[in-house]
Amino acid sequence: MPDDQTIRTDGETIDPFTALKQFFQIEQELFGELLMVEPQTTQKEPDMPAKKTLAVAEEPLLFDLPAPATPPITTEPWGAAASLDDLDKQICTCMKCQLGATRTKFVFGVGNPKATFMLIGEAPGADEDAQGEPFVGRAGQLLNKILEAIQFKREDVYICNILKCRPPGNRKPLPEEVEQCIPYLQKQVELVKPKVILCLGLTAAENLLGTTESLGRLRGRVLTYRGIPLMVTYHPAALLRNPNWKRPAWEDVQAIRKLHDELVAKG
Ligand code: URA
Repeated sequence: MPDDQTIRTDGETIDPFTALKQFFQIEQELFGELLMVEPQTTQKEPDMPAKKTLAVAEEPLLFDLPAPATPPITTEPWGAAASLDDLDKQICTCMKCQLGATRTKFVFGVGNPKATFMLIGEAPGADEDAQGEPFVGRAGQLLNKILEAIQFKREDVYICNILKCRPPGNRKPLPEEVEQCIPYLQKQVELVKPKVILCLGLTAAENLLGTTESLGRLRGRVLTYRGIPLMVTYHPAALLRNPNWKRPAWEDVQAIRKLHDELVAKG
């Protein structure tokens, strides 16, 4: 018998290639397509046996999942504002809480209306109340330096606060003030559509996330607000009071810069 012949169990002789083909045909009849794969379109390594792969559907990446549905912000007319300027015009005379009576200027927000990076602080202070712009006092100057250190210009990002009006004596916002004002911020987020949000201080984080966790536990994590990745760091005013927090704050802003760049690159 020649070397290239195989004896079958029924005694017939056939060449090895035909024997192999028949074997796979029987396998396919028994097990279906799971064990029989189409030839790979890519070139296989010379002398390497063709790999059998199971037909398993690819799992979607977590970030590719659709964002959870978010409830509508309001049925009031400003809820239909199509731009930040339009929204500002509609809400800048707000008198829904007591701060409307004591403010000098309504502090709406500042920056690029299409910013990919949004920063949210607590409430205007004396300088912001006088000028109508967030973060223009000492804390604002430190914030500008922090932004520069991670290669952002103030005009490229969007900066705003939980409250649009200054609480007297810079006291903490009251829950009823936040309740009235935070829908305006929600609308700003909806219009800007940032890729990432940075909460400056615990007040911003508590009110956006509805959490009572400490800043120490919130920082260093990627959380979400209405489907948008969010990180938390120290308020610049806190860094002015306690320079020991500058090192962890530096780590936080480097981390959010990296996350921002990854998400922007992803599109
Ligand atoms: N602190 C804030 O939280 N916001 C400002 O705009 C200024 C100081």
